[in-house]
Amino acid sequence: MAKRKKVTKKKKHSVLFILSSPSGGGKTTVRKVLVKKDRKLVYIVSHTSRPKRPKEQNRRDYVFIKKNVFQRAIRNEAFLEWALVHGHYYGTPKRELVRRLARGQDCLLDIDTKGFMKIKKLRLPCVSIFILPPSRSVLAQRLTERKTDTKDVIKKRLKNAEKEVKYSSLYNYVVINRTVAQTVRTIEQIIFTERLKYKKKDLIYGYVSSRKIS
Ligand code: 5GP
Repeated sequence: MAKRKKVTKKKKHSVLFILSSPSGGGKTTVRKVLVKKDRKLVYIVSHTSRPKRPKEQNRRDYVFIKKNVFQRAIRNEAFLEWALVHGHYYGTPKRELVRRLARGQDCLLDIDTKGFMKIKKLRLPCVSIFILPPSRSVLAQRLTERKTDTKDVIKKRLKNAEKEVKYSSLYNYVVINRTVAQTVRTIEQIIFTERLKYKKKDLIYGYVSSRKIS
């Protein structure tokens, strides 16, 4: 009879990364490049009641749902966290996140500071990164140039940015977004380092379980 190979089950630690920045801070562009370059990083698509912008695609950028459907989902505890941002609901789908983490995949959330504070309260182990625009004037310029919002909405977003920046010190890392390429490089280094830290436990476990220690 063929001998059965003894397989030691490998432990897997997935890492949850959180990315925040004021709207117009360049986070969406940075996040898209990061996920495209890093096949091990999964972006968890948020749900929102905000209307779809012209270039956006349902299920790729957001899962766009009606306000009452979102409210029902809140009551059914479908979100890990949710927040009202600029008058619209946004939330992280709990089931999708748990499914990915359970598979050992590293996940990336792109959420606002209120959402981050909720996750912090839950004491979920995560690595948080705040992307800071180089200055207030650069932020105002970016919001105007992207031409996705009316003047009133831009005003609201700038006012909100002031509040969000105050939370930046609570994040593990703050990265100034001067250019997309530079910001992506910095965040890739953070991801690399944090993965090593999280996987430390697996490595130690593997070493200890493979040798006799006297
Ligand atoms: P936008 O409307 O510009 O796409 O996003 C507005 C803000 O909502 C951004 O700061 C974005 O990070 C945040 N946001 C997107 N998805 C979520 C989410 O699932 N939860 C929370 N709390 N904020 C989110």
